[in-house]
Amino acid sequence: MKAAVLRDINRPLIIEDISIDSPSSNEVLVETKASGVCRTDLHYIEGNYIHQLPVILGHEVAGVVKKVGDNVRYLKEGDTVVGCLSIFCGRCERCLEGNPALCLRDSIWGLSRKSDDKPKLYKEDEPINQFLRLSSFAEFMVVHENSLVKVDSDIEHEKLALLGCGITTGLGAVFRTARIKAGSTVAVIGCGGVGLNVIQGAKLSGALRIIAIDTVESKLQMAIKHGATEVIDANSRNVAAKIIEITKGGVDYSFDAIGAKITAEQAFDIIRPGGTATIVGLIPEGVKIELDGVGFIDEKKIQGSCMGSNQFRVDIPRYIDLYKQGRLQIDSLVSQTLKLESINKAFEDMKTGQLARSVIVFD
Ligand SMILES: [Zn+2]
Ligand SMILES: [Zn+2]
Repeated sequence: MKAAVLRDINRPLIIEDISIDSPSSNEVLVETKASGVCRTDLHYIEGNYIHQLPVILGHEVAGVVKKVGDNVRYLKEGDTVVGCLSIFCGRCERCLEGNPALCLRDSIWGLSRKSDDKPKLYKEDEPINQFLRLSSFAEFMVVHENSLVKVDSDIEHEKLALLGCGITTGLGAVFRTARIKAGSTVAVIGCGGVGLNVIQGAKLSGALRIIAIDTVESKLQMAIKHGATEVIDANSRNVAAKIIEITKGGVDYSFDAIGAKITAEQAFDIIRPGGTATIVGLIPEGVKIELDGVGFIDEKKIQGSCMGSNQFRVDIPRYIDLYKQGRLQIDSLVSQTLKLESINKAFEDMKTGQLARSVIVFD
């Protein structure tokens, strides 16, 4: 099968012919139909996060089941599925407490193949690493069934794919992590694939004011289309002071959809006493953030959100229903579709910051 392989940090992905093993016991062979290109993939290309190489990236995916392992009961051949990196075991403390996005996974229950098992992905004698148990920049994937949710087949695959990461992360950060109250004032830093969905989630939750912050004018326009009530150009000076001024003391909830030192600190700076900042974007390894400690006496709170604290087998079918009701926008999030051969263009375009999402589509 064709796959885009990362062999060296900061080098283009290379389209190669890769072999894929048959699904064993709880695994499923999925024909990839569409895969979104997420900033997390770029983080691994740029070495902000390190993965064992060579690796096939990609983790925001929709496809069709081609074959199931002997123990799979949840899925059958022909099912349409969305993949999510939040694989859950269903048996560990985190899962049973209702936090499957924080599942202890391999540390206890072994949801991946062992190092001496046959690799899922290989090229002749060389094993190729799987990324986040998915590796969707490839024509096929062999994944554990608990990485998949069965979905309706009547929506285009390039839209379904975005439910696997960007949409679920953004909406979940609002619905599940922050659990914002109706009537709240919300600020969202970064209006890309995740931030626009934080905005949509805030709107669906009944936020009164939704202040969108970005450096790119076209993204601020997108933010308005997705529910922002006010926008602030982050190129302007004293963004935090401006937000505190127009909200008379800060927002109830802020969300950092970028994941950088400056934006995480800003998210804390712009909340009111008692407010909550939620860090949704992935902060590069080794980066420390500094907070004004006096904020804690004002009961200001800051928290992380792992993939929107999702319970994706529950959440994703609900989000599809919201889309069908016309209350959740997905069409507008697909900025362009590209063939796998053009995947490096998708990353170049991402760096310009103009697009919501590029999606790789397969025939
Ligand atoms: Zn992602
Ligand atoms: Zn678990």
